[in-house]
Amino acid sequence: MIKFRFELPQLGYQLGDLAPMMSQETVSLHYDRHFRTYLDNLNRLLEGSIYEGLSLPDIVCKAPIGPLSNNAGQVYNHQLFFEQFVPTKHAKLPSGEFLFMVEQSFGSFDRLLQLLEKESMSFFGSGWTFLVVNADGEMKVMSLSNGDTPLRYGMTPLLAIDLWEHAYYLDYQNRKKDYIRNLFLIINWNVVSSRLP
Ligand code: MN
Repeated sequence: MIKFRFELPQLGYQLGDLAPMMSQETVSLHYDRHFRTYLDNLNRLLEGSIYEGLSLPDIVCKAPIGPLSNNAGQVYNHQLFFEQFVPTKHAKLPSGEFLFMVEQSFGSFDRLLQLLEKESMSFFGSGWTFLVVNADGEMKVMSLSNGDTPLRYGMTPLLAIDLWEHAYYLDYQNRKKDYIRNLFLIINWNVVSSRLP
């Protein structure tokens, strides 16, 4: 059997392209060190385990709580995170079916951003805030701790906001709200809407 190893995803931008919303230093450290560490841990823990060879979503959903599920969840969430950005000059607002669903679920796109900010700001500790769509096709904003992911609860994550301090501390120190608001400026809503099931 060919051993499959998970790898860092290719990014559609250079490490410095998201500055000043996310500095090159932050993206390098976050993508190349933190994300890589979760990947290395995942690959190491999979070796010889019954989960070897499964897709990442399957591992995320099937591995019991523990080091494997923590690292698989972090790899899954960081893929969502790093694939959803675009340099500000190319950023566009959402449109089409995705925007229609946002308006049905939250009233307006601005209201969604307000909810994401409120949810991120009130979340305590390390974790993630997500925009998700559930099995009934309803959009919701939710947070989960550490490396947990909405996939485990039958929901599809569309947008992932990393609330671990490593995501923003170099650039923003304790100014978490500035991190959240500036992150909205580099979201590639085409990528986010392409995640609709
Ligand atoms: Mn992170």
